[in-house]
Amino acid sequence: MKLVLIGPPSVGKGTCAKALSAKYGIPHISTGSLFREEVAKSTEFGKLIKQYVDNGLLVPDELVLPFVFKKLLEPNCSKGFILDGFPRTLNQAIALDAFTKIDAAILLDAPLEVIIERALGRLVCPKCGAIYNTQWKPPRYDNICDNCGSRLEKRSDDNPEILKQRYKLYLETFQPIINYYRTKNLLVKVDASKPTDEVIREIEKILVEKGLISNISAYN
Ligand SMILES: [Zn+2]
Repeated sequence: MKLVLIGPPSVGKGTCAKALSAKYGIPHISTGSLFREEVAKSTEFGKLIKQYVDNGLLVPDELVLPFVFKKLLEPNCSKGFILDGFPRTLNQAIALDAFTKIDAAILLDAPLEVIIERALGRLVCPKCGAIYNTQWKPPRYDNICDNCGSRLEKRSDDNPEILKQRYKLYLETFQPIINYYRTKNLLVKVDASKPTDEVIREIEKILVEKGLISNISAYN
């Protein structure tokens, strides 16, 4: 099961990828988190990409491509992978296609209004990283983390102006990639404005249709 997840920022790609990864035992490869980890650990690679990551710039292809392809060759990817945050350019999509054939590019689609509404309700735990939503997944007690009891916070980039800018940038950046996967007949669009559970179920139905899983796992 080789999947690429595409979708605007804050649409819930990470949540869906994590759930699918846990259920079907294939790794979730989030280049954003991997890059931040490399920078935090000050690895050789981390030092090379630091200036881009810190400034929110696109890490150049000559650095990204070998890094991602090396990951995909690791033994835990032998059954497949869920790519999240890659490809980010048409060139990367073409390079990925030359490296390995993916089974589907899943486009999690939601209008800007839904993303803003959702992001504004989001609360994160500064200590354990748990994510809540006042609307979809409220904590048991107001503003308190269910896992560790810490006080929950809003993310500083969860404000409408920033979300609007990021959405616009996403549309400009990803349209060529979306078109590319559409012409290759690999693009599957999923309505991500529904609650997360339904979105995941929707993706699983597609995976069954494509013969990538035999049936939907009941395990959550
Ligand atoms: Zn917590």
